[in-house]
Amino acid sequence: MKNFNLTTKLNFKIIGVVLLLLITVTAHNQWLLLQEENAKNIHWLMSITDFLVKKKPPGSFLDIADRHGAANKCLRGQILSINQELQPIVNDILVPTDIIKFGYYSSQQESIVALGANADISLLVGVDPSRFKPNCEVNTEQLIERKNSILWHGANEVIYVRPIIENGLIIGHAFASINQDAVYAGIRKRMVNTLLAVFSMLLICIIVFRELFVQLKKDLQLFAERILDGQTYDFNSEITEFTPILKYISEQTEKMTRLDRLNIIGEMAAGIAHEVRNPMTTVRGLLQLMNAKQEFTSHKEKISLMIDELDRANSIITEFLSLAKNKVMNFTDGNLNDLIRDIHPLLQADALRNNCDIEMSLGDIPTIFMDQNSIRQLILNMIRNAIDAMPTGGLIHITTEKDEQRVLLAIKDHGIGIPLEDKEKLGTPFFTTKDNGTGLGLAVCYRIVQRHAATIIVESELGKGTTFTIGFHATILTTVPSSEDIQKTIL
Ligand code: ADP
Ligand code: MG
Repeated sequence: MKNFNLTTKLNFKIIGVVLLLLITVTAHNQWLLLQEENAKNIHWLMSITDFLVKKKPPGSFLDIADRHGAANKCLRGQILSINQELQPIVNDILVPTDIIKFGYYSSQQESIVALGANADISLLVGVDPSRFKPNCEVNTEQLIERKNSILWHGANEVIYVRPIIENGLIIGHAFASINQDAVYAGIRKRMVNTLLAVFSMLLICIIVFRELFVQLKKDLQLFAERILDGQTYDFNSEITEFTPILKYISEQTEKMTRLDRLNIIGEMAAGIAHEVRNPMTTVRGLLQLMNAKQEFTSHKEKISLMIDELDRANSIITEFLSLAKNKVMNFTDGNLNDLIRDIHPLLQADALRNNCDIEMSLGDIPTIFMDQNSIRQLILNMIRNAIDAMPTGGLIHITTEKDEQRVLLAIKDHGIGIPLEDKEKLGTPFFTTKDNGTGLGLAVCYRIVQRHAATIIVESELGKGTTFTIGFHATILTTVPSSEDIQKTIL
Protein backbone atom coordinates (compact mmCIF):
# COMPACT_ATOMS: atom_id res chain seq x y z
CA MET A 1 0.00 0.00 0.00
CA LYS A 2 2.66 2.44 -1.04
CA ASN A 3 0.25 5.05 -2.30
CA PHE A 4 -1.94 5.00 0.78
CA ASN A 5 -0.70 8.16 2.39
CA LEU A 6 -2.20 10.91 4.49
CA THR A 7 -3.99 12.52 1.56
CA THR A 8 -5.61 9.24 0.57
CA LYS A 9 -6.81 8.74 4.14
CA LEU A 10 -8.12 12.28 4.17
CA ASN A 11 -9.88 11.66 0.84
CA PHE A 12 -11.55 8.56 2.25
CA LYS A 13 -12.65 10.46 5.32
CA ILE A 14 -14.12 13.26 3.21
CA ILE A 15 -15.88 10.81 0.88
CA GLY A 16 -17.17 8.87 3.91
CA VAL A 17 -18.59 11.96 5.56
CA VAL A 18 -20.15 13.18 2.29
CA LEU A 19 -21.71 9.77 1.65
CA LEU A 20 -23.09 9.57 5.18
CA LEU A 21 -24.58 13.03 4.84
CA LEU A 22 -25.96 12.08 1.47
CA ILE A 23 -27.61 8.91 2.75
CA THR A 24 -29.08 10.69 5.77
CA VAL A 25 -30.49 13.53 3.67
CA THR A 26 -31.86 11.16 1.02
CA ALA A 27 -33.41 8.84 3.65
CA HIS A 28 -35.07 11.80 5.35
CA ASN A 29 -36.39 13.06 2.02
CA GLN A 30 -37.78 9.66 1.14
CA TRP A 31 -39.45 9.38 4.53
CA LEU A 32 -41.16 12.73 3.94
CA LEU A 33 -42.15 11.54 0.49
CA LEU A 34 -43.67 8.37 1.93
CA GLN A 35 -45.77 10.37 4.39
CA GLU A 36 -47.00 12.56 1.56
CA GLU A 37 -47.74 9.56 -0.66
CA ASN A 38 -49.65 7.80 2.14
CA ALA A 39 -51.74 10.89 2.88
CA LYS A 40 -52.52 11.29 -0.83
CA ASN A 41 -53.41 7.59 -1.26
CA ILE A 42 -55.70 7.50 1.77
CA HIS A 43 -57.49 10.54 0.40
CA TRP A 44 -58.01 8.62 -2.85
CA LEU A 45 -59.38 5.58 -0.97
CA MET A 46 -61.88 7.74 0.89
CA SER A 47 -63.08 9.60 -2.21
CA ILE A 48 -63.52 6.42 -4.22
CA THR A 49 -65.50 4.58 -1.55
CA ASP A 50 -67.60 7.65 -0.92
CA PHE A 51 -68.44 7.77 -4.63
CA LEU A 52 -69.32 4.06 -4.70
CA VAL A 53 -71.69 4.31 -1.71
CA LYS A 54 -73.46 7.33 -3.17
CA LYS A 55 -73.86 5.80 -6.63
CA LYS A 56 -75.25 2.43 -5.55
CA PRO A 57 -78.83 2.08 -6.84
CA PRO A 58 -81.56 1.73 -4.19
CA GLY A 59 -82.50 -1.66 -2.75
CA SER A 60 -80.51 -4.50 -1.29
CA PHE A 61 -78.13 -6.57 -3.38
CA LEU A 62 -80.81 -9.31 -3.44
CA ASP A 63 -83.32 -6.76 -4.80
CA ILE A 64 -80.86 -5.93 -7.56
CA ALA A 65 -80.48 -9.64 -8.36
CA ASP A 66 -84.28 -9.84 -8.38
CA ARG A 67 -84.57 -7.01 -10.90
CA HIS A 68 -82.49 -9.13 -13.24
CA GLY A 69 -84.63 -12.17 -12.53
CA ALA A 70 -81.87 -14.05 -10.87
CA ALA A 71 -83.05 -14.16 -7.25
CA ASN A 72 -83.75 -17.86 -7.32
CA LYS A 73 -80.86 -18.88 -9.41
CA CYS A 74 -77.56 -20.10 -8.02
CA LEU A 75 -75.15 -17.81 -6.16
CA ARG A 76 -72.95 -17.38 -9.22
CA GLY A 77 -75.98 -16.29 -11.29
CA GLN A 78 -76.99 -13.81 -8.57
CA ILE A 79 -73.56 -12.28 -8.37
CA LEU A 80 -73.26 -11.94 -12.12
CA SER A 81 -76.60 -10.18 -12.39
CA ILE A 82 -75.75 -7.77 -9.53
CA ASN A 83 -72.44 -7.18 -11.27
CA GLN A 84 -74.31 -6.22 -14.45
CA GLU A 85 -75.81 -3.23 -12.64
CA LEU A 86 -72.91 -2.22 -10.43
CA GLN A 87 -69.96 -2.71 -12.80
CA PRO A 88 -70.78 0.40 -14.90
CA ILE A 89 -70.58 2.51 -11.69
CA VAL A 90 -67.19 1.05 -10.84
CA ASN A 91 -66.02 1.59 -14.41
CA ASP A 92 -66.89 5.27 -14.10
CA ILE A 93 -63.96 5.78 -11.74
CA LEU A 94 -60.79 6.70 -13.49
CA VAL A 95 -57.87 6.49 -11.08
CA PRO A 96 -54.52 7.72 -12.37
CA THR A 97 -52.65 4.90 -10.71
CA ASP A 98 -52.42 1.16 -11.15
CA ILE A 99 -51.92 0.39 -7.47
CA ILE A 100 -55.51 1.02 -6.39
CA LYS A 101 -58.33 -1.50 -6.65
CA PHE A 102 -61.95 -0.91 -5.61
CA GLY A 103 -65.39 -2.39 -5.76
CA TYR A 104 -68.54 -3.59 -3.99
CA TYR A 105 -68.65 -6.45 -1.55
CA SER A 106 -72.03 -8.06 -0.83
CA SER A 107 -72.50 -9.28 2.72
CA GLN A 108 -75.49 -11.35 1.66
CA GLN A 109 -73.58 -13.21 -1.01
CA GLU A 110 -70.28 -12.98 0.92
CA SER A 111 -68.56 -12.11 -2.32
CA ILE A 112 -67.11 -9.26 -4.29
CA VAL A 113 -69.81 -8.24 -6.77
CA ALA A 114 -68.09 -5.50 -8.81
CA LEU A 115 -64.40 -4.68 -9.29
CA GLY A 116 -62.57 -1.62 -10.57
CA ALA A 117 -59.46 -0.93 -12.56
CA ASN A 118 -56.96 -3.69 -13.36
CA ALA A 119 -58.99 -6.09 -11.30
CA ASP A 120 -58.69 -9.82 -11.36
CA ILE A 121 -62.21 -10.77 -12.51
CA SER A 122 -61.87 -14.26 -11.02
CA LEU A 123 -62.27 -12.54 -7.64
CA LEU A 124 -65.90 -11.76 -8.49
CA VAL A 125 -66.95 -15.27 -7.67
CA GLY A 126 -65.50 -18.06 -5.73
CA VAL A 127 -63.38 -16.00 -3.39
CA ASP A 128 -62.76 -17.69 -0.09
CA PRO A 129 -65.14 -15.57 2.04
CA SER A 130 -63.27 -16.31 5.27
CA ARG A 131 -60.27 -14.36 3.94
CA PHE A 132 -62.23 -11.34 2.87
CA LYS A 133 -65.25 -11.28 5.15
CA PRO A 134 -63.73 -10.40 8.56
CA ASN A 135 -62.61 -7.04 7.31
CA CYS A 136 -65.95 -6.22 5.82
CA GLU A 137 -68.16 -7.06 8.74
CA VAL A 138 -67.61 -3.76 10.44
CA ASN A 139 -70.44 -1.28 10.46
CA THR A 140 -68.23 1.80 10.55
CA GLU A 141 -65.89 3.21 7.95
CA GLN A 142 -62.46 1.74 8.57
CA LEU A 143 -58.92 1.92 7.35
CA ILE A 144 -57.31 -1.48 7.67
CA GLU A 145 -53.75 -2.56 7.03
CA ARG A 146 -53.63 -6.12 5.90
CA LYS A 147 -50.85 -8.57 5.19
CA ASN A 148 -51.11 -11.06 2.32
CA SER A 149 -54.18 -9.57 0.69
CA ILE A 150 -56.27 -11.62 -1.71
CA LEU A 151 -56.85 -8.54 -3.86
CA TRP A 152 -53.12 -8.11 -4.41
CA HIS A 153 -52.22 -11.80 -4.50
CA GLY A 154 -50.17 -11.91 -1.33
CA ALA A 155 -48.88 -8.31 -1.20
CA ASN A 156 -49.58 -6.03 1.76
CA GLU A 157 -52.39 -3.54 1.35
CA VAL A 158 -54.18 -0.68 3.03
CA ILE A 159 -57.88 -1.07 2.50
CA TYR A 160 -60.64 1.40 3.22
CA VAL A 161 -64.09 -0.08 3.83
CA ARG A 162 -67.40 1.75 4.00
CA PRO A 163 -70.55 -0.15 4.98
CA ILE A 164 -73.64 0.29 2.80
CA ILE A 165 -76.61 0.56 5.12
CA GLU A 166 -80.18 0.18 4.05
CA ASN A 167 -83.09 0.34 6.49
CA GLY A 168 -80.65 0.13 9.37
CA LEU A 169 -79.06 -3.04 7.98
CA ILE A 170 -75.60 -3.48 6.48
CA ILE A 171 -76.29 -4.93 3.07
CA GLY A 172 -72.77 -4.71 1.73
CA HIS A 173 -69.59 -2.67 1.54
CA ALA A 174 -67.79 -0.33 -0.81
CA PHE A 175 -64.04 -0.80 -0.59
CA ALA A 176 -60.84 0.59 -2.10
CA SER A 177 -57.43 -0.88 -1.54
CA ILE A 178 -53.90 0.25 -2.19
CA ASN A 179 -50.91 -2.04 -2.76
CA GLN A 180 -48.56 -0.84 -0.03
CA ASP A 181 -45.68 -3.06 -1.23
CA ALA A 182 -45.81 -1.36 -4.62
CA VAL A 183 -45.81 2.07 -2.94
CA TYR A 184 -42.70 1.15 -0.92
CA ALA A 185 -41.02 -0.37 -3.98
CA GLY A 186 -41.64 2.84 -5.97
CA ILE A 187 -40.12 4.99 -3.24
CA ARG A 188 -37.18 2.60 -2.82
CA LYS A 189 -36.54 2.74 -6.55
CA ARG A 190 -36.61 6.54 -6.51
CA MET A 191 -34.24 6.58 -3.53
CA VAL A 192 -31.77 4.25 -5.23
CA ASN A 193 -31.92 6.37 -8.40
CA THR A 194 -31.31 9.58 -6.45
CA LEU A 195 -28.42 8.00 -4.55
CA LEU A 196 -26.92 6.65 -7.77
CA ALA A 197 -27.20 10.03 -9.47
CA VAL A 198 -25.64 11.89 -6.54
CA PHE A 199 -22.95 9.27 -6.13
CA SER A 200 -22.03 9.51 -9.83
CA MET A 201 -21.85 13.29 -9.50
CA LEU A 202 -19.63 12.90 -6.46
CA LEU A 203 -17.43 10.50 -8.39
CA ILE A 204 -17.19 12.91 -11.33
CA CYS A 205 -16.29 15.73 -8.91
CA ILE A 206 -13.58 13.60 -7.31
CA ILE A 207 -12.12 12.70 -10.71
CA VAL A 208 -12.17 16.32 -11.88
CA PHE A 209 -10.60 17.56 -8.64
CA ARG A 210 -7.99 14.83 -8.74
CA GLU A 211 -7.05 15.80 -12.28
CA LEU A 212 -6.95 19.42 -11.21
CA PHE A 213 -4.69 18.70 -8.26
CA VAL A 214 -2.36 16.50 -10.30
CA GLN A 215 -2.04 19.28 -12.88
CA LEU A 216 -1.60 21.85 -10.13
CA LYS A 217 1.15 19.78 -8.55
CA LYS A 218 2.94 19.50 -11.90
CA ASP A 219 2.60 23.23 -12.50
CA LEU A 220 3.86 24.11 -9.04
CA GLN A 221 6.89 21.84 -9.44
CA LEU A 222 7.68 23.40 -12.78
CA PHE A 223 7.10 26.85 -11.36
CA ALA A 224 9.43 26.16 -8.42
CA GLU A 225 12.15 25.06 -10.87
CA ARG A 226 11.59 28.22 -12.90
CA ILE A 227 11.88 30.35 -9.74
CA LEU A 228 15.29 28.84 -9.10
CA ASP A 229 16.32 29.71 -12.67
CA GLY A 230 14.75 33.15 -12.33
CA GLN A 231 12.55 32.59 -15.40
CA THR A 232 9.03 32.92 -14.15
CA TYR A 233 7.98 36.03 -16.07
CA ASP A 234 6.31 34.14 -18.95
CA PHE A 235 5.11 31.15 -16.95
CA ASN A 236 1.62 30.02 -17.91
CA SER A 237 -0.24 27.40 -15.95
CA GLU A 238 -2.27 24.72 -17.79
CA ILE A 239 -5.11 25.84 -15.51
CA THR A 240 -5.61 29.36 -16.81
CA GLU A 241 -7.33 30.61 -13.65
CA PHE A 242 -4.19 29.76 -11.75
CA THR A 243 -1.81 31.79 -13.92
CA PRO A 244 -2.52 35.18 -12.24
CA ILE A 245 -1.86 33.66 -8.80
CA LEU A 246 1.45 32.23 -9.99
CA LYS A 247 2.29 35.55 -11.59
CA TYR A 248 1.62 37.25 -8.26
CA ILE A 249 3.80 34.73 -6.40
CA SER A 250 6.48 35.22 -9.04
CA GLU A 251 6.41 39.00 -8.54
CA GLN A 252 6.54 38.68 -4.77
CA THR A 253 9.40 36.18 -4.92
CA GLU A 254 11.23 38.43 -7.32
CA LYS A 255 10.76 41.36 -4.94
CA MET A 256 11.97 39.31 -1.98
CA THR A 257 15.02 38.07 -3.86
CA ARG A 258 15.80 41.58 -4.97
CA LEU A 259 15.52 42.89 -1.41
CA ASP A 260 17.72 40.07 -0.18
CA ARG A 261 20.34 40.84 -2.79
CA LEU A 262 20.19 44.53 -1.93
CA ASN A 263 20.58 43.86 1.78
CA ILE A 264 23.61 41.62 1.35
CA ILE A 265 25.24 44.05 -1.05
CA GLY A 266 24.41 46.93 1.27
CA GLU A 267 26.08 45.28 4.23
CA MET A 268 29.14 44.42 2.16
CA ALA A 269 29.35 47.93 0.83
CA ALA A 270 29.17 49.47 4.28
CA GLY A 271 32.03 47.27 5.39
CA ILE A 272 34.56 47.74 2.62
CA ALA A 273 33.82 51.05 0.95
CA HIS A 274 35.48 53.21 3.61
CA GLU A 275 38.55 51.00 3.69
CA VAL A 276 39.00 51.31 -0.07
CA ARG A 277 38.29 55.02 -0.13
CA ASN A 278 40.93 56.05 2.43
CA PRO A 279 44.00 54.78 0.56
CA MET A 280 42.48 56.18 -2.64
CA THR A 281 42.21 59.63 -1.08
CA THR A 282 45.88 59.42 -0.14
CA VAL A 283 46.89 58.36 -3.66
CA ARG A 284 44.74 61.13 -5.19
CA GLY A 285 46.34 63.72 -2.87
CA LEU A 286 49.82 62.57 -3.84
CA LEU A 287 48.97 62.61 -7.54
CA GLN A 288 47.65 66.16 -7.22
CA LEU A 289 50.89 67.16 -5.54
CA MET A 290 52.94 65.53 -8.30
CA ASN A 291 50.82 67.26 -10.92
CA ALA A 292 51.73 70.60 -9.43
CA LYS A 293 55.48 69.85 -9.58
CA GLN A 294 57.75 70.92 -12.47
CA GLU A 295 59.60 67.63 -12.82
CA PHE A 296 56.38 65.80 -13.69
CA THR A 297 55.25 68.24 -16.40
CA SER A 298 55.88 65.63 -19.08
CA HIS A 299 53.56 63.24 -17.23
CA LYS A 300 50.86 65.87 -16.54
CA GLU A 301 48.35 64.29 -18.92
CA LYS A 302 48.79 60.80 -17.53
CA ILE A 303 48.55 62.06 -13.95
CA SER A 304 45.33 63.95 -14.80
CA LEU A 305 43.93 60.79 -16.32
CA MET A 306 44.85 58.88 -13.16
CA ILE A 307 43.09 61.51 -11.04
CA ASP A 308 40.01 61.32 -13.30
CA GLU A 309 39.95 57.55 -13.06
CA LEU A 310 40.31 57.76 -9.29
CA ASP A 311 37.39 60.20 -9.21
CA ARG A 312 35.33 57.78 -11.31
CA ALA A 313 36.21 54.97 -8.92
CA ASN A 314 35.28 57.22 -6.03
CA SER A 315 31.91 58.05 -7.55
CA ILE A 316 31.22 54.34 -7.98
CA ILE A 317 32.02 53.81 -4.32
CA THR A 318 29.74 56.71 -3.38
CA GLU A 319 26.87 55.14 -5.29
CA PHE A 320 27.77 51.81 -3.85
CA LEU A 321 27.62 53.31 -0.38
CA SER A 322 24.08 54.50 -1.05
CA LEU A 323 23.09 50.88 -1.07
CA ALA A 324 24.39 50.47 2.45
CA LYS A 325 21.53 49.39 4.66
CA ASN A 326 22.47 51.58 7.57
CA LYS A 327 22.92 54.80 5.67
CA VAL A 328 21.22 57.52 7.72
CA MET A 329 18.29 59.19 6.02
CA ASN A 330 16.66 62.38 7.10
CA PHE A 331 12.93 62.12 6.50
CA THR A 332 10.93 65.33 6.32
CA ASP A 333 7.60 66.44 4.91
CA GLY A 334 8.12 67.93 1.49
CA ASN A 335 6.59 68.59 -1.88
CA LEU A 336 7.99 66.60 -4.77
CA ASN A 337 7.21 69.43 -7.21
CA ASP A 338 9.45 71.88 -5.30
CA LEU A 339 12.28 69.37 -5.31
CA ILE A 340 11.94 68.77 -9.05
CA ARG A 341 11.87 72.52 -9.77
CA ASP A 342 15.05 72.85 -7.68
CA ILE A 343 17.06 70.34 -9.65
CA HIS A 344 15.50 71.12 -13.02
CA PRO A 345 18.39 73.36 -14.20
CA LEU A 346 20.86 70.61 -13.35
CA LEU A 347 18.83 68.00 -15.18
CA GLN A 348 18.22 70.26 -18.15
CA ALA A 349 21.94 71.02 -18.48
CA ASP A 350 22.77 67.31 -18.51
CA ALA A 351 19.97 66.67 -21.01
CA LEU A 352 20.93 69.49 -23.39
CA ARG A 353 24.53 68.26 -23.53
CA ASN A 354 23.11 65.04 -24.97
CA ASN A 355 20.60 66.55 -27.43
CA CYS A 356 17.75 65.83 -25.03
CA ASP A 357 15.08 68.05 -23.58
CA ILE A 358 13.11 67.76 -20.37
CA GLU A 359 9.42 68.47 -20.24
CA MET A 360 7.80 68.83 -16.84
CA SER A 361 4.14 68.32 -16.06
CA LEU A 362 3.69 68.84 -12.35
CA GLY A 363 0.22 68.18 -10.93
CA ASP A 364 -1.42 69.36 -7.77
CA ILE A 365 -0.05 66.88 -5.23
CA PRO A 366 -0.01 66.55 -1.46
CA THR A 367 3.25 66.45 0.47
CA ILE A 368 5.16 63.25 1.04
CA PHE A 369 7.44 62.05 3.77
CA MET A 370 10.87 61.81 2.13
CA ASP A 371 14.62 62.07 2.39
CA GLN A 372 15.23 64.91 -0.06
CA ASN A 373 18.81 63.93 -0.91
CA SER A 374 17.82 60.37 -1.77
CA ILE A 375 14.89 61.44 -3.95
CA ARG A 376 17.16 63.92 -5.71
CA GLN A 377 19.60 61.12 -6.44
CA LEU A 378 16.79 58.85 -7.59
CA ILE A 379 15.58 61.42 -10.13
CA LEU A 380 19.13 62.14 -11.31
CA ASN A 381 19.86 58.43 -11.83
CA MET A 382 16.66 57.87 -13.74
CA ILE A 383 17.10 60.93 -15.96
CA ARG A 384 20.66 59.74 -16.67
CA ASN A 385 19.32 56.37 -17.76
CA ALA A 386 16.67 58.04 -19.90
CA ILE A 387 19.36 60.13 -21.61
CA ASP A 388 21.49 57.00 -22.13
CA ALA A 389 18.48 55.24 -23.67
CA MET A 390 18.20 57.94 -26.37
CA PRO A 391 21.65 58.10 -28.03
CA THR A 392 20.33 60.43 -30.74
CA GLY A 393 18.49 62.63 -28.31
CA GLY A 394 14.80 63.12 -27.58
CA LEU A 395 12.22 64.27 -25.10
CA ILE A 396 12.06 63.19 -21.45
CA HIS A 397 8.87 63.73 -19.46
CA ILE A 398 8.74 64.20 -15.70
CA THR A 399 5.20 63.97 -14.42
CA THR A 400 3.74 64.20 -10.94
CA GLU A 401 0.12 63.48 -10.10
CA LYS A 402 -1.97 61.98 -7.34
CA ASP A 403 -4.26 58.98 -7.39
CA GLU A 404 -6.62 57.86 -4.61
CA GLN A 405 -3.90 56.66 -2.31
CA ARG A 406 -0.57 57.90 -3.52
CA VAL A 407 1.58 60.53 -5.13
CA LEU A 408 2.93 59.30 -8.45
CA LEU A 409 6.21 60.35 -10.01
CA ALA A 410 6.72 59.19 -13.61
CA ILE A 411 9.86 59.52 -15.72
CA LYS A 412 9.25 58.69 -19.34
CA ASP A 413 11.64 58.48 -22.29
CA HIS A 414 11.29 57.59 -25.96
CA GLY A 415 14.41 55.47 -26.01
CA ILE A 416 15.42 51.96 -26.92
CA GLY A 417 13.23 50.23 -24.34
CA ILE A 418 14.01 47.24 -22.15
CA PRO A 419 13.78 43.61 -23.33
CA LEU A 420 11.44 41.41 -21.27
CA GLU A 421 14.24 39.19 -19.97
CA ASP A 422 16.17 42.27 -18.74
CA LYS A 423 13.14 43.72 -16.97
CA GLU A 424 13.49 40.98 -14.35
CA LYS A 425 17.01 42.03 -13.56
CA LEU A 426 16.42 45.74 -13.14
CA GLY A 427 17.60 46.90 -9.75
CA THR A 428 20.10 44.08 -9.38
CA PRO A 429 23.45 45.60 -8.46
CA PHE A 430 25.97 45.50 -11.34
CA PHE A 431 23.37 44.62 -13.94
CA THR A 432 24.20 46.83 -16.91
CA THR A 433 23.92 46.64 -20.68
CA LYS A 434 26.22 49.62 -21.22
CA ASP A 435 29.95 49.46 -21.97
CA ASN A 436 30.74 52.10 -19.38
CA GLY A 437 27.85 51.35 -17.06
CA THR A 438 28.24 50.50 -13.38
CA GLY A 439 24.87 48.80 -12.99
CA LEU A 440 24.42 50.61 -9.70
CA GLY A 441 22.12 53.51 -10.65
CA LEU A 442 18.89 51.54 -10.58
CA ALA A 443 20.01 49.43 -7.61
CA VAL A 444 20.32 52.68 -5.67
CA CYS A 445 16.91 53.84 -6.95
CA TYR A 446 15.23 50.59 -5.92
CA ARG A 447 16.86 50.84 -2.50
CA ILE A 448 15.58 54.41 -2.08
CA VAL A 449 12.11 53.34 -3.18
CA GLN A 450 12.19 50.50 -0.68
CA ARG A 451 13.29 52.75 2.18
CA HIS A 452 10.43 55.15 1.39
CA ALA A 453 7.95 52.25 1.51
CA ALA A 454 7.06 53.26 -2.04
CA THR A 455 6.33 51.17 -5.15
CA ILE A 456 7.98 51.14 -8.54
CA ILE A 457 6.46 50.06 -11.83
CA VAL A 458 8.37 49.74 -15.11
CA GLU A 459 6.52 49.88 -18.41
CA SER A 460 8.64 49.48 -21.48
CA GLU A 461 8.27 48.77 -25.17
CA LEU A 462 11.25 47.92 -27.30
CA GLY A 463 12.11 50.76 -29.66
CA LYS A 464 9.37 52.97 -28.22
CA GLY A 465 10.51 53.90 -24.74
CA THR A 466 10.30 53.31 -21.04
CA THR A 467 8.34 54.77 -18.14
CA PHE A 468 9.34 54.35 -14.52
CA THR A 469 6.46 55.19 -12.14
CA ILE A 470 7.11 55.53 -8.44
CA GLY A 471 4.19 55.62 -6.01
CA PHE A 472 4.75 57.40 -2.67
CA HIS A 473 2.38 57.49 0.26
CA ALA A 474 1.04 60.99 0.74
CA THR A 475 1.37 62.37 4.26
CA ILE A 476 -2.11 63.87 4.51
CA LEU A 477 -3.99 60.73 3.53
CA THR A 478 -5.18 58.37 6.25
CA THR A 479 -3.34 55.38 4.82
CA VAL A 480 0.02 57.03 5.17
CA PRO A 481 2.56 54.91 7.00
CA SER A 482 3.67 56.63 10.16
CA SER A 483 7.24 57.76 10.48
CA GLU A 484 7.69 54.72 12.73
CA ASP A 485 6.47 52.47 9.94
CA ILE A 486 8.96 54.01 7.57
CA GLN A 487 11.68 53.69 10.17
CA LYS A 488 10.77 50.01 10.51
CA THR A 489 11.14 49.58 6.76
CA ILE A 490 14.47 51.28 6.96
CA LEU A 491 15.83 49.14 9.78
P1 ADP B 1 23.83 51.66 -15.78
O1 ADP B 1 23.07 52.88 -16.16
O2 ADP B 1 25.14 51.99 -15.19
O3 ADP B 1 23.90 50.65 -16.84
P2 ADP B 1 21.59 51.23 -14.11
O4 ADP B 1 21.41 50.44 -12.88
O5 ADP B 1 21.29 52.66 -14.05
O6 ADP B 1 23.04 50.98 -14.59
O7 ADP B 1 20.73 50.57 -15.23
C1 ADP B 1 20.84 49.21 -15.44
C2 ADP B 1 20.37 48.84 -16.82
O8 ADP B 1 18.98 49.03 -16.91
C3 ADP B 1 20.93 49.68 -17.92
O9 ADP B 1 22.19 49.20 -18.33
C4 ADP B 1 19.89 49.55 -19.02
O10 ADP B 1 20.08 48.36 -19.74
C5 ADP B 1 18.63 49.41 -18.24
N1 ADP B 1 17.88 50.65 -18.19
C6 ADP B 1 17.71 51.45 -17.11
N2 ADP B 1 16.95 52.51 -17.42
C7 ADP B 1 16.62 52.40 -18.74
C8 ADP B 1 15.85 53.17 -19.67
N3 ADP B 1 15.25 54.32 -19.29
N4 ADP B 1 15.73 52.73 -20.93
C9 ADP B 1 16.32 51.57 -21.32
N5 ADP B 1 17.05 50.80 -20.49
C10 ADP B 1 17.21 51.19 -19.22
MG1 MG C 1 22.39 54.34 -14.89
